Amino acid sequence: MQEKGNISIHTENIFPIIKKFLYSDHEIFLRELVSNAVDASQKIKRLAALGEYKQEVGKLRVEVEVNKKKKTISIKDNGIGMTAEEIKKYINQIAFSGATEFVEKYKDKGEDQQIIGHFGLGFYSAFMVSKQVEIETLSFKEGSVPAKWICDGETEFEIKSSKKKTRGTVVTLHIAEDSEEFLEDTRIQGVLDKYGKFLPIPIKFGTKEESIPDGKDKDDKPKYKSVKKDNIINDSEPIWTKSPNELKDEDYLKFYKELYPMSEDPLFWIHLNVDYPFNLTGILYFPKLKKDFEIQRNKIQLYSRQVFITDEVKNVVPEFLQLLHGVIDSPDIPLNVSRSYLQADSNVKKINGYITKKVADKLNELFKEDRTSYEAKWNDIGIFVKYGMISEEKFHDKAKDFVLLKNTASKLFTFEEYKTFIDANQVNKDKQKVVLYASNEDQQHSYIDAAQKRGYDVLILNEALDSHFINHCEQKFEVTFKRVDADVVDKLIDKGEAKTSVLSEKEEKAIKEIFEKAIDDKNNSVTVETMATDDLPVTITLPEFMRRMKDMQAAGGGGPMMFGDLPVNLAIAVNANHSIVQKIIASKKEDKKIDLAKQAYDLALLSQGMLTGKALTDFIKRSVDLVAH
Ligand code: ADP
Repeated sequence: MQEKGNISIHTENIFPIIKKFLYSDHEIFLRELVSNAVDASQKIKRLAALGEYKQEVGKLRVEVEVNKKKKTISIKDNGIGMTAEEIKKYINQIAFSGATEFVEKYKDKGEDQQIIGHFGLGFYSAFMVSKQVEIETLSFKEGSVPAKWICDGETEFEIKSSKKKTRGTVVTLHIAEDSEEFLEDTRIQGVLDKYGKFLPIPIKFGTKEESIPDGKDKDDKPKYKSVKKDNIINDSEPIWTKSPNELKDEDYLKFYKELYPMSEDPLFWIHLNVDYPFNLTGILYFPKLKKDFEIQRNKIQLYSRQVFITDEVKNVVPEFLQLLHGVIDSPDIPLNVSRSYLQADSNVKKINGYITKKVADKLNELFKEDRTSYEAKWNDIGIFVKYGMISEEKFHDKAKDFVLLKNTASKLFTFEEYKTFIDANQVNKDKQKVVLYASNEDQQHSYIDAAQKRGYDVLILNEALDSHFINHCEQKFEVTFKRVDADVVDKLIDKGEAKTSVLSEKEEKAIKEIFEKAIDDKNNSVTVETMATDDLPVTITLPEFMRRMKDMQAAGGGGPMMFGDLPVNLAIAVNANHSIVQKIIASKKEDKKIDLAKQAYDLALLSQGMLTGKALTDFIKRSVDLVAH
């Protein structure tokens, strides 16, 4: 038997395009050929199970071999094989209309990978690295004749008979000069490790030395000998393919270590397992976040029937869950199409929703079943929960019951608990609950102190995400948030109780003028307030609203245009009840009055770490003078 022919009508341009433009990831040829071999192996297994193949299936395996001398790579399987007719049907006719146009259209868009596979170009990716490709194959069908197909990368092919005796297929690639890197064992091992670590049929690549027990020596000590063993690169039954009730915690932890050898143990995990209305299995781990809080994305690996596809899961997993680690395996995710298509895909949307729900349910379960351990993990999972609430309405609806708030005493509350907790003391005259928080315990220490003296509770909200979280909570939970330094303590929660000033109107005016002179900054407004005698003589605040505008501006979010470049408008409150103020009033000398006012103002700046440079030097000098005289 010998036959020559041309590879279908539309494909004259296909090979040069494959070779020239699908260059970004040449290594995937191995993924494609090994997957084909695995598919052929699984098919024979299925046919045997269905009783359609009555002979011995034998041990199924795929072998990858590199021959450096001949400059070939071969991929061998004992799967279903192909008849000459099938080669013609499946390999020769890349029978899709307009494929060349399609490839032309996408060739510049970095979407090369999607083209392959989508149009059944899988096998042809072999030509990215080969100058000639051969297939030798014997079909499982009774009475089949073995066939050999040879193609040199132009549109001509040749089919002849072969002497192959055993069922299955060998694909041999004659590697092109510019692709000789693939003749290196380490390169092939690397590619197999990347794409094939969990393929469902054992993949053999070369051999490895292993030492095994070999009786005892004359001193009765165990002896070992070195033997050559097949080097199987994959775990063909990874744990995500098993049922959760077959698995123990150790299994999950071991698998995690396999995926991320250098990582600390995860906090917990979720085993995903659905088959309707789409197919999805996988395990998602909640990692322990590093102290320096580096967010690691691209830690979730996406598989399709145990073939690794990518670790860019942007469109498959909701953004906030991309902080998780693990694997997702779904044949229903259309992997070989463009990204924009992927986003609109209804399966992908459903998968998104499903994963979100599963994660929320798991967190809820942990919270309900063992609150203490949930609280212990809060530092690590808080970020997921808050991020999720802000970004996904559905997640918010579930998470509102298990999101926690931490106060300065490190006590954790749910939102409902916290609302009840502050109900007695932190309600303003408009019956609104006011939540007080600090973003920096050290810097805002004096304000926290003052608030606590009034019996107020103060939350710690110090993460980058918290300013968004605060906005979110105000909208969802009907409470007002105020940072402790947003106002003088008596006005933080305006209960509408008017306090009578200890100063006469004239004295108040005089004090205001002295301080304005001493501070000498028109942007800052001075008021005289009635505070407790042990409150600070001067308090500097930045109104909550102003601060948020500035934060937004700093974050580049752009506050309303009308604010332009905001000056630092500090509000300076002078404590009318403080003895320094009495001293200023009592003093006869203008200089002395100003000095005292400056001193009081600088102390306020100092308490917030805002006193620097010349102002600090002046303050020290003045302090020394004051103490000395
Ligand atoms: P796809 O795998 O997406 O169908 P390919 O171009 O990779 O596209 O393969 C085309 C067809 O050739 C396969 O569907 C299969 O029928 C056949 N084939 C390829 N490799 C093998 C193999 N090793 N054993 C049996 N059949 C194969």
